[in-house]
Amino acid sequence: MIYFIGAGPGAPDLITVRGMHLLQHADLVIYAGSLVNPELLSFCPPSCPCLNSAEMTLEEIISAMAVRPKTETVIRLHTGDPSLYGAVREQMDALDELQLPYEVVPGVSSMSAAAAALRAEFTPPEISQTVIISRMAGRTAVPDAESIRSLAAHGSTMILFLSAGMLPKLCQELIAGGYPEDTTAAVVYRASWPDEEIILGNLKTLPGQAAHIRRTALILVGRFLSDFRTRSRLYDPAFSHLFREGHP
Ligand code: SAH
Repeated sequence: MIYFIGAGPGAPDLITVRGMHLLQHADLVIYAGSLVNPELLSFCPPSCPCLNSAEMTLEEIISAMAVRPKTETVIRLHTGDPSLYGAVREQMDALDELQLPYEVVPGVSSMSAAAAALRAEFTPPEISQTVIISRMAGRTAVPDAESIRSLAAHGSTMILFLSAGMLPKLCQELIAGGYPEDTTAAVVYRASWPDEEIILGNLKTLPGQAAHIRRTALILVGRFLSDFRTRSRLYDPAFSHLFREGHP
């Protein structure tokens, strides 16, 4: 069986238990070498070949998987969660064409690790109940209807992947789209790695503060990072729900 597995954001103990167990029984691992922590490969049996997909084309990745007997455990190890910017769909399409079955094991995305590093809630009541996950157009285009400027109009919590190298332009677009320039914003570099770095500022100050960071970082924007006091209804004594009677 072929498994697409989320390796988590970096720290080797942030892979899921299921992902770790599968690695322990792997016959072949193809890992995204640019971001997956190589320490994770030490879970594999010593005889297991581990290929770095950073040096491979899609065709090479698929044929490396396809030549293995169906009884073997073949693992495609993606960074974070495979569903986000992992180029996973094209691999699944190719396997579908070859009628090779596969399963997906989710992972802890870097956006969850960044929230943990910031000790933040993306969706505090009355501040924002929406998270927009996107990226700046770079060498890979973004559909026209999803420009940063148009997404910014919602003023929601926003998380930007793959954009740390374009921070000045990104902040400019966010402001042009409607966020006040003093909107809180953060750069989280290598969340959960030993050299993790958190830079907290606002849309005006952040490009200067984080000028030294060019890659492997998320940009997080919105009032969820500001100082406020809020209270959910979920734990409000006057609010009853399925699991608790109210005490008005
Ligand atoms: N599937 C991954 C994202 C892959 S795209 C996930 O769920 O996290 C690669 C981008 O993810 C990087 O450019 C960076 O923006 C972000 N990223 C990956 N690991 C990160 C980490 N540990 N800390 C901060 N950002 C990270």
